[in-house]
Amino acid sequence: MSLLDDNFARKIAAQSRAWTMTHDQAKKDRGPRQPAEPKMGICDKCHKEALVRAFRSRQTDRTDGAASFGTVIKHYCEDCAPKSRAQKDAEVPQLTSKQVKNLMKSAKKGLL
Ligand SMILES: [Zn+2]
Repeated sequence: MSLLDDNFARKIAAQSRAWTMTHDQAKKDRGPRQPAEPKMGICDKCHKEALVRAFRSRQTDRTDGAASFGTVIKHYCEDCAPKSRAQKDAEVPQLTSKQVKNLMKSAKKGLL
């Protein structure tokens, strides 16, 4: 192996080591996918001090006519925390067709 090849090989090895290190670091920074543990803070919705959790939400901003899309971290207390789809489904009672008809009747009478 010539000196030049040796230098090149060492450079590549160093680069790949550096990449592995930054790659591992990035993985650590991202952390687990579960929502963070609740901690004391100010809820972004009701602005009360409470145990809050961090939630990722997608946001569209319009500044000077240019739309930008980003992910923002919001902190919500237990009351304001967005419900997962499964939780929502569990909370909404399944209406029977009779109940739906009654609802429609009430709506027509202006009760709703
Ligand atoms: Zn709240």
